[in-house]
Amino acid sequence: MTHRTSRRAARLAAVLLLAALLAGARAVQRAHQLRPREIPVLMYHNVLDGDDLTVWQVSADEFAWQMDQLDEAGYTPILPGDVERASRGWGWLPEKPVVITFDDGYEGVKTFAEPVLAKHGFKAICYAIVDRLGGEGEARTSFDSGPLMSTNEVAAMAARGTVAIGSHSLTHRANPRLLADEIRRSRYRLKELTGVRTKDYCYPFGLHGYDYMYKALRESKFRTALICDDRMFRYGVETNLLAIPRLSVYGGVHSVGLGAADPVAGTLAITNGGLPIPLKIVARREDDGRTWESDVRWVGGRHEPVWEVPPEILSPPWRIEAWDKAGLFRYFPRAE
Ligand SMILES: [Zn+2]
Repeated sequence: MTHRTSRRAARLAAVLLLAALLAGARAVQRAHQLRPREIPVLMYHNVLDGDDLTVWQVSADEFAWQMDQLDEAGYTPILPGDVERASRGWGWLPEKPVVITFDDGYEGVKTFAEPVLAKHGFKAICYAIVDRLGGEGEARTSFDSGPLMSTNEVAAMAARGTVAIGSHSLTHRANPRLLADEIRRSRYRLKELTGVRTKDYCYPFGLHGYDYMYKALRESKFRTALICDDRMFRYGVETNLLAIPRLSVYGGVHSVGLGAADPVAGTLAITNGGLPIPLKIVARREDDGRTWESDVRWVGGRHEPVWEVPPEILSPPWRIEAWDKAGLFRYFPRAE
């Protein structure tokens, strides 16, 4: 082999090695892109004890029952940062991921939700309205759904590690231009007031989609930002992590039951004595396991939907279940 041919061979080998490495990197990237899945990102606001609750106040009992159901169904709560790292190929998502989020920074999250989450070994994230948090020695401040945590309580919560802290702007105003300005300041201000560093943002009122807001988020080094939208996040399909949609978890008190069922006409009604919630019905024959799943409809208050169910399913022995629209929580018959 002459000197020149051996050099050429070495160069060829180097080129082939580089090509193989690039192909490998692309394959890894493709493998990530090829594993799309739906991730429920749950939006809570306050968690409180009591019966007289609004749609953004989930009762402490109901929250505990929901966490039991997630645990039993094998869900693993992760943080928005975990989603971001996995999307870059720096980590793996668990088999059944779920993201648990709280808006505004209510004191009830600390009192009622955090101990339940800790019991299950779950993690969650709470987005604070940074300049609304009460300071040390000041009276407790309140927002839409109840009293907020103080800056000290936020700092302590972050240190305990069960509930991470993100930014929900400085003042929760409804003006998108001013909100973009608050994005830039909120991260620094949160650090200044509580010592908490965050890269996770949540849009007040879900107000998003403006280029200047995305620009402000990127320039402020935020990695993820959450919107409302009330639907599943399609990981691997939706690639804008500055607009991750969430499912609303509706509060209030719910007493879901079976209404009139007419196997001949094939109609079925579900009742809910509490605040309206969107539900889907699963009808199951207990002998051969045939099932039928309804569309999602609001049930409760003035919403009294009647579903048409195929009569062959709605004849004995049959069983009816009522679920939230993502199929996470069974409201009827309620699992105890
Ligand atoms: Zn909010």
